[in-house]
Amino acid sequence: MGKNYYCDYCDRSFVDTPEKRKNHLNSQQHILNVKNHYNSFKEPRDILIEKLGNPICQNFFKNGFCSYGLNCKFSHVPYFQTRQESINYIDANYDYLIHKLVIETNMINNYQIVDKSRELKKQYEEKYKHLKKYVKEFPPSMALPPPEGYDFSNCAEWG
Ligand SMILES: [Zn+2]
Ligand SMILES: [Zn+2]
Repeated sequence: MGKNYYCDYCDRSFVDTPEKRKNHLNSQQHILNVKNHYNSFKEPRDILIEKLGNPICQNFFKNGFCSYGLNCKFSHVPYFQTRQESINYIDANYDYLIHKLVIETNMINNYQIVDKSRELKKQYEEKYKHLKKYVKEFPPSMALPPPEGYDFSNCAEWG
């Protein structure tokens, strides 16, 4: 009997052969999961700053929302002349950005699942509890144009 290889990042196991292991470690999904794993230890602010050189996210600026959240490879910060101006923008709009990028994104990505299972909803809230500290009151003046294409009214009961 071959032994199993368990991948922590992907939370899955398979019979361990050099071939399978190599395929797994090179798979898109595994690479993405590893990246997300390490991103989860980074401050969201650092993630935003890292992506400043990337093209801006069309989803985010067209719809006011991007379902990839902090894992999006594009930048969710508008273009500015200088890097410092971009960082100033991030700091000035931090609560707003974090709300959009972390809390709303995870709510929407988990909406289907959450809808099906109260237990998963609880797990999800527990998992992202630490991010609640990023959401404070933000004034309406900080809001981008209203997002189109999704209805958020059903989420009110999530608190
Ligand atoms: Zn893996
Ligand atoms: Zn995006």
